[in-house]
Amino acid sequence: MIGGGAAGFFAAIHASGKGREVCIFEKSPKLLSKVKVSGGGRCNVTHQPMEVSKLIKNYPRGEKFLKKVFRHFSIADTFLWFESRGVHLKVEVDGRVFPVSDSSQTIVDVLLSEAEKSGIKIFTSTGIKELNPSQSGYELITEKGVFRADAVIVATGGHPKSDGYNFLNSLKIKLNSPIPSLFTFNTPGESIRELMGIAVQDGLVKIEGTKLNYRGPVLVTHWGISGPAVLKLSAFGADWLYDHDYRARAIINWNSLYGENDYLSQLVKYSQAHPNRKVYSHALFDLPARLWEHFCFKSEIDPLQLHGNLPKKQLNKLVQNLFCYILEVNGKTTFKDEFVTAGGIDLNEVNPETMQSLLHPNLYFAGEVLDIDGITGGFNFQAAWSTGFLAGRSIN
Ligand SMILES: Cc1cc2nc3c(=O)[nH]c(=O)nc-3n(C[C@H](O)[C@H](O)[C@H](O)COP(=O)(O)OP(=O)(O)OC[C@H]3O[C@@H](n4cnc5c(N)ncnc54)[C@H](O)[C@@H]3O)c2cc1C
Repeated sequence: MIGGGAAGFFAAIHASGKGREVCIFEKSPKLLSKVKVSGGGRCNVTHQPMEVSKLIKNYPRGEKFLKKVFRHFSIADTFLWFESRGVHLKVEVDGRVFPVSDSSQTIVDVLLSEAEKSGIKIFTSTGIKELNPSQSGYELITEKGVFRADAVIVATGGHPKSDGYNFLNSLKIKLNSPIPSLFTFNTPGESIRELMGIAVQDGLVKIEGTKLNYRGPVLVTHWGISGPAVLKLSAFGADWLYDHDYRARAIINWNSLYGENDYLSQLVKYSQAHPNRKVYSHALFDLPARLWEHFCFKSEIDPLQLHGNLPKKQLNKLVQNLFCYILEVNGKTTFKDEFVTAGGIDLNEVNPETMQSLLHPNLYFAGEVLDIDGITGGFNFQAAWSTGFLAGRSIN
């Protein structure tokens, strides 16, 4: 096993037994370090159980491949695996699943203890420099010497740069260049940044010139915009945004329950019912007061303007700001709590029923080293558990 992360441990545990010797080689001195810091120290282990057809929609890359993998090990299996080992899990309102302890250490501990029970040998600070096919299997070249294995599972995680995959060079495996996923949008020239901290619960964010659009909470930050709708957009639009050097126009409808005509008709109704109210003073459409004032300002509405005699030009501008607010995006900020890499081992070279390489016998892959990534919410660990399980179980 190469890699002592979530996928590596899960694969090693499921590969053990049948009298075989299983070893984990981890290049850093620490094991399971991402599990430890994940989910803000709570580890968002998976997501609330859902059908496979819905689950796969949370993976911008790897959807079709995972459809097959999840038939072998899905969310319900993750629950069962942890619960049957004494790790009680809880589902939060947004569907994310955490250990009841609210501590990622619980997950680290159960993986370490299962590995120990299974007699898995662990070599830390032992990075694999080269993986070469040999007559009877593979040679693993490390600074500490050469190890030999009949079968190898590569679970080395994602790398922001292609050189993280150099140890696989001799195998001539196809790699899709790594690019970031899950980031927030920088909008350096936009005045809305002054409203940092303000959030709407149900916005709709689109990228002009694409079909990409996602609903959900939108948060204004010091650098631009963030929140689940933006993160989803960044994940599903990772390739497009990368190709466009993270320059784009984001178009926001601040309350996706309303269309352009709904905004207009509601505003007209309101002005008829409350002609003497100041436009600035009464935030509508469940929007925060400061955001509403910002839209009034952007629509060139006078602070003393009453609803009853709001000029048509200003009314239309207000509708435009509510329905299709344009933000010039220039750059990104990586979402520190759940950075994942898009790209990795090309899925066309891996059998989704076994995780075995289609080119090299007895070589398997698991986890984020593959060109698979999920959005936030526990989907990345679910992919690590499922691919890890399948790779481990498939070794003859
Ligand atoms: C801060 C943070 C928080 C996150 N929180 C969540 C969350 O709550 N829920 C969720 O679903 N996802 C979360 N993620 C994503 C999730 O952590 C990853 O998708 C998951 O860890 C991938 O598991 P992995 O085993 O494939 O890779 P990793 O966990 O990255 O493990 C790979 C291991 O391989 C080792 N390695 C690399 N190259 C070599 C080599 N040549 N030789 C030997 N060893 C090597 C690495 O040192 C590493 O320990 C988070 C990510 C980050 C960064």
